[in-house]
Order: sequence, then structure tokens, then C-alpha cells
Amino acid sequence: MATEGDGLSTLLNHPPRSVLGKNNSPTISPIYQTAKFAMSAEMPYSDQFLYTRVSNPTLRDLELTLAKVQGTEDGIVFSSGMAAISHTLMGLLQAGDHVLYFRELYKPARMFLKDLKRYGISGTMLKLSDEASLEASVIPGKTKLLYFESPTNPNLGIADIPKLKSFCQKNNLLLVMDNTFAGPHQHHGLGVDLFIHSLTKFVNGHGDVIAGAVLGSTELIKKIKPMAVALGATLDPHAAFLIQRGFRTYLLRYQKQTENARDLVAYLRAHKKIKTVYYPDGELAKKQLADSGAMVSFELHPTHVSAKDFCHRLTMVQLAVSLGSAETIIAPTEIFFAEDLEKQDREEMGLTRHSLRVSVGLEDIKDIIADFEQALK
Ligand SMILES: *Cc1c(COP(=O)(O)O)cnc(C)c1O
Repeated sequence: MATEGDGLSTLLNHPPRSVLGKNNSPTISPIYQTAKFAMSAEMPYSDQFLYTRVSNPTLRDLELTLAKVQGTEDGIVFSSGMAAISHTLMGLLQAGDHVLYFRELYKPARMFLKDLKRYGISGTMLKLSDEASLEASVIPGKTKLLYFESPTNPNLGIADIPKLKSFCQKNNLLLVMDNTFAGPHQHHGLGVDLFIHSLTKFVNGHGDVIAGAVLGSTELIKKIKPMAVALGATLDPHAAFLIQRGFRTYLLRYQKQTENARDLVAYLRAHKKIKTVYYPDGELAKKQLADSGAMVSFELHPTHVSAKDFCHRLTMVQLAVSLGSAETIIAPTEIFFAEDLEKQDREEMGLTRHSLRVSVGLEDIKDIIADFEQALK
């Protein structure tokens, strides 16, 4: 046992630190796995890293990478995609404000938007196809933003973004988009003010980390930052490192997964037991998207087994929520993504007992199709 006075306790808490020579730098940035930073006397404190909930170099590198890929000035990363959504809305809105959103949204986002009324923020939920009601739903002086997705989760509806933009410009509203499905390399130059991403999905791409981001102009990000510091859903530096690592192969993965998805879509469209296939390759989608992406939804003929039973017939493809990982997964949409919706909305949105959403992975496409083939027999 070490004894008092031999200095071991001090040594253990001030361990030796290797100092790298000039230009002898690691090829990969280190993980700044620290809660706090020692302050230097040589710079104003406000120019320094202080505390990881406020800022951290590993998080900052990821924020700047994401912003560059999405074509925006700045960004903030969070401990989940939902944290990015809730912090953004709470950072921009206050009691008395009103928001517009579509029912075609990721379920927890839709539920949060509805629930904002508890903070005195009202909302109007519209149908994505019903652009005509947008104008009539604006409450002058109160409506502050329009929140949307494209392609939508889970049935891949496409919003006409230039149309939404001119509506927002005319009414002085912010246009906020959850761009998780299309990914940060898409939807540049269409006038979206803030992009939200669940980094859990395509950006990380390996299904092992939960994280999110909001990306936009320096001015708007500055407005959201105090809420990020106050509510404190900070991303862990180690998780940020894993995302930065996964992000390196993002474009390759996205391309390959899109190719696989296209082949699966062609197979499903030709199959007589499939009633409908949803995939964003129509005219409007092609105008806005360079890549249609790796998400495919479809509805089985009602004479076939239920969506849930179909999932359990698959052997390689597993029933799981989430998306954008390297492996193909599937989920019945009515059970997992429609719980909060009225029956009529579910029917209109094609969320039935027989509808499914697939996140197509990186496997050999012939093995993916073979699994569907045996399950459809
Ligand atoms: C998964 C998802 C989210 C939420 O992201 P988490 O990282 O799970 O919190 C938000 N929007 C869309 C479209 C998603 O698919």
C-alpha cells in the first residue's frame, strides 16, 4: 500500500502527458473525453473551451463537418435526434406563438409538436398534400414557423420545398426541415432555414450511437444555442468520435444502399402479392433529390399475412425500428409509427395492418431479395 508522502496519489491525478513535436500530429483528431478545460491566462476566457456542455473540440469538429456537408454556416450536435428537434423548437418559440406542421412526420416529433400547447404554443397539423390550407392556417403575427419532412417517415411523401419556401417568405415564417431521410448531402439551395438530422441514422450509419444535429445560419444557431446549454442534452465526445468515423463512408454507403433499394423496389413493384410500393422516384422527388435513398415502404395485399407476421417470416432481415444502418431492417408501420393518429388519417396515409417500412442495407442485393422471396411464398 502506498503511504502518505510518497506522491503516488498526486501522480495518479496529474499523470504524465506526452507532448507532440511541431507538425507531429495524429492523423485522426483525438477524442477530447473531458468535462472541463483548464483556462489559459493568455486569451480571453470567452474565446476558450470551458465546459463540454457548452463546447468541446470533438463536438465542434463534428458540428462544422455536418454544416459544411449540408451547406450551412453552423450547427449544434445533441444527444439524440429528438433532442435536436425539441431544443430547436423550444429555442425559437415562446408562449403565444403558433406553428404549422404536417401529419406526415416521425411519430415522436408529431407528438411533441402537438404537446407544445402545454407551454402555450399552439399548432395546426395539416395534410402534406393539402398545400391549399397553408395560407388559411396562418395566424397573422403569431405563426412563426413551418416544420416538415421530405421524404416523410414512414411512407416517403415528398414536399414541394420551393413552394413551401415561397409561402414562408410571403408570411415571414421560418422553414424548418427534418432532413434525416434524404441526408445532409441533399436539399441544398432550396431555401430551408434550419435542417435537423437524427445522426443515429445514415450519418453514423452503424446503428451503435444515438445523436442529432440542427444546422443553419450563424444567426439562427445562435438563437438555439442558449436552449442547448440550458436543457443540456449534450452529445458525449466518444459518441461524437464514432459518428465522425462513421461519417467518413457516408457517401459510399448512401450510394450503395440507394442502388440496393432501387433493385428491391423493382422486385416489389413486379410482385403480385404487393399492393403498393412507396419510393421517392417520382417527378417532384427527382427534381429535389439526387439520390432517392435507402428507405422503401410497401403494402401487402390484404389477402396475404399481416405486416407483423410477414416480418417474422424473414430470416436475415430483422424486425427493428430505426434506419440507415449497414444491415437491412424492416418494421410494420401501423404498429410502430401511427399509434397517435386517428383511423382516417392512418388510412389516408397508407398506414394499415399490411404496410411495412424497409431500411435497405449494404448486404448483397440477391440475398436481400431471396429473403423477401421466401417470406412472400
Ligand atoms: C429517428 C428519427 C428521429 C429521431 O432521432 P433519434 O436520434 O432517434 O432521437 C427524428 N426524425 C426522423 C425522421 C427519424 O427517422
